[in-house]
Amino acid sequence: MSFGIELMEKVLFKFAKQWIAGNTIDDALTSAKEAYKNGRNVIINKLGEYHTSKSQISTTVKEYQKISNSLRKWNIRGAISVKPTQVGLSISQRECHKNFEKIIQNAREQHIFVWIDMESADHTDETIEIYNSFFSKYERLGIALQANLKRTEDDLKNLIEIGAKIRLVKGAYSENAEIAFKSKEEVDKNFMRLVRILFKNGNEFGVATHDGKIISKVERLSKRYPKKFEFQMLRGIRDDIKPGLIKRKFVVSDYIPYGTNWLPYSIRRIKERKRNILLLGSSLIQSQRV
Ligand SMILES: Cc1cc2nc3c(=O)[nH]c(=O)nc-3n(C[C@H](O)[C@H](O)[C@H](O)COP(=O)(O)OP(=O)(O)OC[C@H]3O[C@@H](n4cnc5c(N)ncnc54)[C@H](O)[C@@H]3O)c2cc1C
Repeated sequence: MSFGIELMEKVLFKFAKQWIAGNTIDDALTSAKEAYKNGRNVIINKLGEYHTSKSQISTTVKEYQKISNSLRKWNIRGAISVKPTQVGLSISQRECHKNFEKIIQNAREQHIFVWIDMESADHTDETIEIYNSFFSKYERLGIALQANLKRTEDDLKNLIEIGAKIRLVKGAYSENAEIAFKSKEEVDKNFMRLVRILFKNGNEFGVATHDGKIISKVERLSKRYPKKFEFQMLRGIRDDIKPGLIKRKFVVSDYIPYGTNWLPYSIRRIKERKRNILLLGSSLIQSQRV
């Protein structure tokens, strides 16, 4: 690796550390204990996606089992969050199903909630199919849906009909205009439309956003429609508003990623916010000076 790339990776890693617990399960658990001490629930995710190596997938499955066991052992109110392509969807739906079975079986024994992350739109159908097949057997199972996709209103209504537990997010993947809302205004508007449906007809859901305007509107909605729901935010983001929400008796969960495969996750976070690009740029310039 050239010196320039090595340096860039070092600076990127330093920057990314604000969102990532560290490389190991122990780092994730330390971060989980800290969040829990501060009144937050936790959702732990092992970084990594699009795995095609069976041994890598098997390690990932074992780690999710170990995390579930540890959350139970430490009495931390928490969940795990799994990406379908990190447990076999890039090989086949059958492989993915087989591995989810192992994770969910163990989570059931430990009474741990399992979230299924939603990835790019080419996986939406398969992910919903996987969710449907397991939700009938394990009800402490949730699925993320993305407000940037035009199809999501239909998916949300269908899933609410079976009593599904939904995490609503804006969507972290770049999709084409045929299937997705592209402007922030359209995505935010759809997010609010969907969140209203959740408050009217849903049950036990997660509102996963850092958007202060949306959070205020959701606070108001929750007074009108008392429902079991939680705010979910990424570790290290909007830590300024989390204590206030907890004080006002809202449940807040921190999504805590860990692992060595931090680059794609961090790039998504950097791209989400202009200020992050500027901050990264200035860190890189400063590192050149030293
Ligand atoms: C718990 C959780 C789970 C998620 N799971 C998924 C998933 O399964 N699939 C998926 O596609 N996406 C997922 N996402 C990511 C999501 O789709 C968005 O990409 C991400 O949350 C950014 O959107 P936003 O709602 O925060 O709003 P944005 O419109 O990006 O930001 C709105 C405002 O929030 C604040 N903000 C946003 N980002 C930052 C930041 N980095 N630092 C400081 N302030 C910030 C700023 O004030 C900003 O103006 C998840 C997000 C969360 C919180």
